[in-house]
Amino acid sequence: LALTSGIGWHLHATSDAEAASTELSLASDLDDAIATGDVYPLYQPKKNLRTGEIASVEALVRWNHRTHGMLRPDHFIPLLERAGRIASLTLHVVTCAIRDVERWRSRGHQVTTAVNLSATLLESTAFIDQLEDLIRGSGVDPRLLIFEVTESAAMHAPDVAAAALGRFKSLGVAISMDDYGTGQSTLTYLKKLPLDELKIDRSFVEFAHQNRGDAVLVRSTIDLAHELGLKVVAEGVETEECLKFLTSVDCDLAQGYLISKPIDAASIAVLLDIGARQ
Ligand code: C2E
Ligand code: CA
Ligand code: CA
Ligand code: CA
Repeated sequence: LALTSGIGWHLHATSDAEAASTELSLASDLDDAIATGDVYPLYQPKKNLRTGEIASVEALVRWNHRTHGMLRPDHFIPLLERAGRIASLTLHVVTCAIRDVERWRSRGHQVTTAVNLSATLLESTAFIDQLEDLIRGSGVDPRLLIFEVTESAAMHAPDVAAAALGRFKSLGVAISMDDYGTGQSTLTYLKKLPLDELKIDRSFVEFAHQNRGDAVLVRSTIDLAHELGLKVVAEGVETEECLKFLTSVDCDLAQGYLISKPIDAASIAVLLDIGARQ
């Protein structure tokens, strides 16, 4: 097993058998890692382009593994999905997010917080029941929560996904379509899912200020979303030029390294305090 450093540590298995055993051991480490606080969310702000305020944040999970070091979600999320452990991870992230929403609220900040939901989970009635019980039992205002789902995820059963999301929507939770533009039956999802927000994938946003084709796609997506009554978030904003372009085409919110990398809950509180004083 080789470890190479990138943004975090990434596991490279040298054989299929080794890969399978790494998967199993990581999946079986999950409960302990949750209990010891090694799995936790960071939060990345979504900035309102009209007011300049941090309108909401997105929870992005991190796993600081006791032997493998910092693991990236792109690596361990698919693995936990395959191992049938993604429900446990998600309930943990939602629990942390609710706790942090309450902490920010006690400092006078109402911050809507988004959590990513794997599409496969929307097909599990048991999971949907547990998640609903968690939200109801916590006493959090559900209007402070957003669930982000990807189009590809809901793909195989849009009607089932729509019914599950409809339950959260009637509680007051907002629903966001993630990675918009990268899926295959985008219009079906726009029609069927009870959406409030659409996040344009970074691959379209990145060069929109310098590439005419991308600019047209981004602008027309924003117009379409607005016609449907949805708010639009541009993800992966890294440059001032890009931000300027997005403002010029009436994009509602922007997220990306230019505004902030994902940071811990205490750092979000500091940003919110600064924003409130301006
Ligand atoms: P995503 O939901 O599309 O999240 C955006 C990813 O882009 C995050 O990577 C974020 O750190 C990164 N990012 C943000 N701004 C920029 C930017 O300006 N430039 C670039 N190059 N990247 C940027 P991260 O945190 O590694 O998460 C990767 C993916 O893992 C997420 O993609 C999401 O699909 C998944 N994920 C993260 N947390 C959870 C979770 O709690 N549950 C589930 N099911 N999936 C999660
Ligand atoms: Ca997301
Ligand atoms: Ca995304
Ligand atoms: Ca993505």
